Amino acid sequence: MSRALVTGGCGFIGSNLVHKLASMGWEIDVVDDLSSGLIENLEGTNKRIITADTLHLYANSFEVTDERDVLIICGDFAHETVLGRISSNNYDYVFHLAANPRVEFSVKYPQVTTEINVLKTVELFKACADANVKRVVFASSSAVYGEPVELPTSEVDATAPESPYGLQKLQGEQYATLFAKLYGLDVISLRFFNVYGPRQLGDSPYSTAVSSWCNAIYNDESLRSDGDGTQSRDMVYVDDVVQANICAASVSSDFAGSVYNIGSGDSITNNEIIEKLRASFEDLQVTQAPAREGDVMHTLADVSSARSDLGFEPNFTFDKGLDATLTWWDDRFPDEDFDDNSDDWDLDSEDD
Ligand code: NAD
Repeated sequence: MSRALVTGGCGFIGSNLVHKLASMGWEIDVVDDLSSGLIENLEGTNKRIITADTLHLYANSFEVTDERDVLIICGDFAHETVLGRISSNNYDYVFHLAANPRVEFSVKYPQVTTEINVLKTVELFKACADANVKRVVFASSSAVYGEPVELPTSEVDATAPESPYGLQKLQGEQYATLFAKLYGLDVISLRFFNVYGPRQLGDSPYSTAVSSWCNAIYNDESLRSDGDGTQSRDMVYVDDVVQANICAASVSSDFAGSVYNIGSGDSITNNEIIEKLRASFEDLQVTQAPAREGDVMHTLADVSSARSDLGFEPNFTFDKGLDATLTWWDDRFPDEDFDDNSDDWDLDSEDD
């Protein structure tokens, strides 16, 4: 059985990864300060919940007899007890997903986000290097490219972040590569493009398009569309990102800080997404808003390296992923009566 630490495991991508690993029989620790994550995201797992401050008590007195599959440690991923647990060789794999991932927030608060996304990440990497963790999988972002020069963008293309968040992710990657060289850390960085799917909530001003629009629809609010809507994104469904993380951990090779794009290999504009939603919901209201600070116009991933080196294969078209996402939202609002035009969210037929 493999043992893993998932930082940010109560968040959107992290919780989807934890559910998958748990179903595969892995023993998982999650550390999450619940700043944006929710314990309810791990509903359905056999879990124990403790705080980072009481981790040593749990480990010394209760852990041996505890039959949990998932241990949720509530606290900072760079808390001394968490770093101590890593250093004591408790993990084969560390999936580092915890971050403040909001582009616009990082423009407003570059220092705060640098502390979480860079400084604490360095502390985590160092603990992993000292402990000989088999592999660290680091959640990086397509934001490292800024406005891409080439579409589709490949890993060898220039990086030119346009937000503190993008720069922080690039620095995380660079520390990963440096630590591979200095300390022999086996680490791989995955540049996720725009991830969407179940458990992505849309109730914050920093939410991404699909989640905030689903949230608006299910709360009977107008959809906010930033800029002129012609910006396009490589939208990758969360199950494909989970698959990429598991491939990245499983492939036998020493990655020494290599970076891989993780996307769908296809792109869609915001206006096209709204039209797809309009086909399913009557009376959709859209409010125009100014373009968001730090946002780029177009993204599209070249995923050929992830395909060949990791065996990664995106399985979800946008229609299939949106279909699954809307089903999840529908389950969250079971008592509501929506004016949708679709009984089974069969969006694939839109393209026929
Ligand atoms: P999320 O906000 O849902 O998850 C992040 C989790 O980290 C949350 O549960 C939060 O509570 C936790 N967290 C934050 N700071 C912490 C700290 N100091 N200690 C412990 N826990 C902390 O975000 P997400 O969309 O699931 O993103 C996961 C990772 O993937 C992030 O690193 C993000 O930068 C990266 N990423 C996401 C996307 C995307 O489209 N969602 C795209 C590219 C990269």
